[in-house]
Parts: sequence; C-alpha cells; structure tokens
Amino acid sequence: MQIIDGKQTAQDIYNELHIETQKIIDAGKRPPSLVAVLVGDDPASNYYVRSKEKKAQKIGFSSKTLRLDKNISEQELLEIIKDLNKDSNIDGYIVQLPLPKQIDDQKIIEAIDPNKDIDGFHPLNLGKMIIQQKGFIPATPYGILELINRYNIETEGKKIVIIGRSLIVGRPLSILLSQKRNGGNATVCVAHSRTHNLPNLTKDADIVITALGKPHFLKAEMVKDGVVIIDAGINQIEAPDTKKGYKLVGDVDFEAVSKKASFITPVPGGVGPMTIAMLMKNTLKAYYSNKNKV
Ligand code: NDP
Repeated sequence: MQIIDGKQTAQDIYNELHIETQKIIDAGKRPPSLVAVLVGDDPASNYYVRSKEKKAQKIGFSSKTLRLDKNISEQELLEIIKDLNKDSNIDGYIVQLPLPKQIDDQKIIEAIDPNKDIDGFHPLNLGKMIIQQKGFIPATPYGILELINRYNIETEGKKIVIIGRSLIVGRPLSILLSQKRNGGNATVCVAHSRTHNLPNLTKDADIVITALGKPHFLKAEMVKDGVVIIDAGINQIEAPDTKKGYKLVGDVDFEAVSKKASFITPVPGGVGPMTIAMLMKNTLKAYYSNKNKV
C-alpha cells in the first residue's frame, strides 16, 4: 500500500510556483495577485482565507483579504465585485462561500469576471471544462486529478465510483475523469444519497473517491483488494484524548481500508492541501491571461 502524500505534492507545486514567480519578478514585472473576499466572521471560513493568504505570500504572489461585515447587502457586495472585475492589477479573486443568508451565492458567482474566477465556479468556466476549452477548473477536483497524474495512477478503462455529486467536488470530477485526457478515459459512476446498493458498486470499482462528508463511511468490506482510494472528506469528530478535543477524519475508515488498498490518501494530508495549491496554480494562469502584467 502506498500513501498518496497530498501535503508533499502541494509543497512540490508551491516550490514550482515560487520559482516561476521569481522569474516574473526578476524580469521586472509585477507578481501575480489575488484577493480573497470574506464576508462575516465564520471561524472555518476565516481559517481557510488566512491559509490561502499565507500560501500566496510564501510563493511571492501579492495577496490581500477584503473583510466585509456579515450584514452587507447583496447589492453592496455586487458593487465590490464590479470594482474587483475592473481593477486590472488583480489577476484573480475568490469569494469565500458560504455567504450569509441575505446574499444569493449563485448571483455573486455569476457576477465574477470569468477571467478572474480562480475558483472555477462561474457557469462559463464550468461549461468550458465540459467542452475541454481553456478556463479554470475548480480547485478540489483539479487537485485530485493532479494527485492521480503525479502518482501515475492508471485511470484509462478503469471503473471509478465517486460518492457525492456536489458542484464543487463530485460532479466536476466525474466529468474530468471520464474525458479523453491525461488522468481521464475512465468509466465513471457517480453515487449519491439516492443510490441503491452502493456496496455492490464500490466493490466492483478499481478506484473509489469519497466526497460526501460522513466520517468513516467507506468500510473495508465495501471495496476490493488493490483498490485506489481518494478521500476528499473533511469531518470533525470528537477526540477527548487530544488537546483540541476534536480531530479531522475523512469519509473512509482509513485503518481498515488501507489494508486492502494499493494507494490511499490520508486525512489530513491528502486531498485537503491540494485544494489551495491548485487555487494558486489557477492564479498564475489568471496572471498570464491578464494583459496588465507590468
Ligand atoms: P455536499 O454536502 O455538498 O455533498 C455531499 C454529497 O454526498 C451529496 O451529493 C450527497 O447526496 C452525497 N451523500 C450524502 N450522504 C450520502 C450517503 N449516505 N450515501 C451516498 N451519498 C451521500 O458536500 P461537499 O461536496 O461540499 O463536501 C463533501 C466532503 O468533502 C465534506 O467532508 C467536505 O468537508 C469535503 N470537502 C473537502 C474539500 C477539500 O479541500 N479537500 C473541498 C470541498 C469539500 P445528495 O446529492 O443526494 O444529497
């Protein structure tokens, strides 16, 4: 069994991005720049945004966070989005989701300039992904694809079961893996809460990808020997014996399933670190397509 080390792979990507950024700066140009928009004070969102900002700065990108009051109106946020779209010194930006109740997430996503949409959630980018045109791929599916490619995991002709059909993980991933591409050409089955006899599907799969948000959901008896396991789940469970009183686990019963797997991602340290790394890759892509690079 081989562990798929997302932390190390993400670090490799940061090193590559750092070298590329240094070349840009050495050529007398401004570094790639990104902005995170954070509405309200949700601790998890705050943590994600701070991690993104820190990583961006380490690579050498210019990065800042716009912290907005939780009571901001949808109209006010749309005005801010307009300004970000107009500012040619900003290559890409993200609006941290979820947004407070008074704001329609989808309306905000659709207001983002698709050329700056480094999260890849704008309908135009999702459409481009489907027809395999250049655009932004959502960071978590992109990160999973990158892990598959960097670990030379064969996907061609393989049966893949993805558990979860959300727009940020399962659904885009199912499209990418079934496409004619590097890390694609698989026969993909997308399972969800209405799926019948899930174990029958997973037992037959060469690769199982979990993205449902249920701790230890995938058990050893649900998979075959030699299976490749990719676990996108991040779940907080109580752990009274730890300092914090909780710990993070995936959707997979790692202890038992790892004994049958040929490759497996741990949680933490698997898919999670890849998401921010791919967001940074998307930022560099946005920089290259921005005409104002000086
Ligand atoms: P959602 O809640 O949006 O989607 C969950 C999906 O799982 C749904 O499609 C749901 O089905 C399906 N599902 C729920 N219960 C079952 C079940 N018992 N059997 C089969 N399918 C089921 O979650 P997200 O996609 O946003 O997140 C999923 C997990 O991935 C979470 O743990 C989240 O924290 C993590 N995540 C990790 C990221 C990372 O950076 N690594 C990034 C984003 C998410 P239905 O559609 O029928 O409701």
